[in-house]
Amino acid sequence: MTLNLSTPFFIGGEWTTFAGAPRSTVFNPSLGEPIGELPLGGTAEVDAAVRAAHAAFPAWADTPVVERARVMFKYRTLIEQHFDEIARLICKEHGKTYAEARGDLYRGYEVVELACAAPTLLTGELLPNIARGIDGELARYPLGVCAGITPFNFPAMIPLWMFPLALVCGNTFVLKPSERVPLTAIRLTQLLAEAGLPKGVFNLVHGGKESVDALLKHPLVKAVSFVGSTPIARYVYTTGTAHGKRVQANGGAKNYVVIMPDADVDKTVEGVMNAAFGCAGERCMAGSSVLTVGDRGRHVLPELVKAAQAMTVGRTDVEAQPGMGAVITAAHRDRVRSLVDDGERAGAKVIADGRGVKVKDAPNGFYLGATIVEDVRTDMKLAQEEVFGPVLNVVHMSDLEQAIALANTSSFGNGAAIFTRSGAAAREFKHRVKAGMIGVNVGVPAPMSMFPFSGWNESFFGDLHMQGRAGVQFYTQPKVTTSRWFIEGEGDIWRK
Ligand code: NAD
Repeated sequence: MTLNLSTPFFIGGEWTTFAGAPRSTVFNPSLGEPIGELPLGGTAEVDAAVRAAHAAFPAWADTPVVERARVMFKYRTLIEQHFDEIARLICKEHGKTYAEARGDLYRGYEVVELACAAPTLLTGELLPNIARGIDGELARYPLGVCAGITPFNFPAMIPLWMFPLALVCGNTFVLKPSERVPLTAIRLTQLLAEAGLPKGVFNLVHGGKESVDALLKHPLVKAVSFVGSTPIARYVYTTGTAHGKRVQANGGAKNYVVIMPDADVDKTVEGVMNAAFGCAGERCMAGSSVLTVGDRGRHVLPELVKAAQAMTVGRTDVEAQPGMGAVITAAHRDRVRSLVDDGERAGAKVIADGRGVKVKDAPNGFYLGATIVEDVRTDMKLAQEEVFGPVLNVVHMSDLEQAIALANTSSFGNGAAIFTRSGAAAREFKHRVKAGMIGVNVGVPAPMSMFPFSGWNESFFGDLHMQGRAGVQFYTQPKVTTSRWFIEGEGDIWRK
């Protein structure tokens, strides 16, 4: 099947476009070259998609849950059959490596597997005889039209955090993916249609702020799931809730990794390299600040620097895969570089420097090499802002107490990790650090689909997180029925 950017909207089961829509250029970041022009939707386009979803809702909500789950079983098989092709698409429009692209899709595929368990996940509760002759029961009902608004950095995983669960719960859906990575969303949509989803149950629109505002204010949209940067997450939450919608909005992050003096050097270096430089640091779970405890990190720092300097950077559309791919745009590369420049001017030491990296066969690609900056102070932008690039801050701490105190000054609260052989240190850290996802000898782990993606503070706005049972609760509303039947002898089963 071809991927067509000229009719990229999927509304009511048809691929379409809209005359006169403004356009945005989609790039291949590895090459720094345009892939195509994406039409951006606004109020009218969003309205068409929401109306299609609204029209499809009654029949879909009434479809038995086992039949809804069967669509997901088929979808799972189709993703499996097209795994390699989708991963290559992610490399092309995002610039991450093939292994990272497979990981991106795999984590989303796991949510599809979770959604296959819908009949169990949606089973209600019944308590007989809550009072004499009276039974209580709880059943879960869908909400109606749900919307998903997603960022560029996980083109497959993040949309898949949302719609598989929303759909099996009986909702219909409108997805608005990042305008920088529309191709993966288009392919995931094609496969969903092939899996047998009825027309209008899932709709795809593209756009920027105008399309987001249209979703947030549309009277027929009942719930909004958002993932992106903190300022937009806050905006989406306040605007969406002000318009009467249920909203879950994941924001940005700044994740601390504590390295204790007793940590295993090789395993720690491997874990930290992955956390800091995986996906070129463009992860909300990136381990972006290392706090070494005791002796200025002499046991790990030289090894980390060596590993960073040895990390290859390059094109992700070729067979020989680099250690790290490109960042999303030239502007983003320049911003990351300038944050490192600022830190250096303010007195931080750049001990591994990827700012000047060159990739011979892709001179226009958006590249940065692995960069480590030591002695980053809390008043520097590098310490305060989410860098979202391959830059690791290092700060030396005298003890665990000081490290926990520093980590807890963050306005974010997505993840944190500790590397240690001490159970006591790990326990202390786990209990006291103010973040929602903790790694112990695992570099800032994103929870698997059966657990919620549970950011705290300004990394999350809302009540119910994505994935797991929290995801099912978000996409359903409970109904409690209390029944009493006036039949002679009712309630006497024990006496007969
Ligand atoms: P972004 O906030 O720029 O964009 C996210 C979505 O919001 C996109 O669909 C975009 O079109 C839309 N958008 C952008 N500007 C808008 C505006 N002014 N009004 C309304 N909508 C707008 O984020 P990004 O650059 O695509 O992604 C990176 C960010 O996402 C990072 O901050 C990262 O930490 C965060 N993120 C968070 C999580 C998490 O689960 N906490 C996961 C992945 C990424």
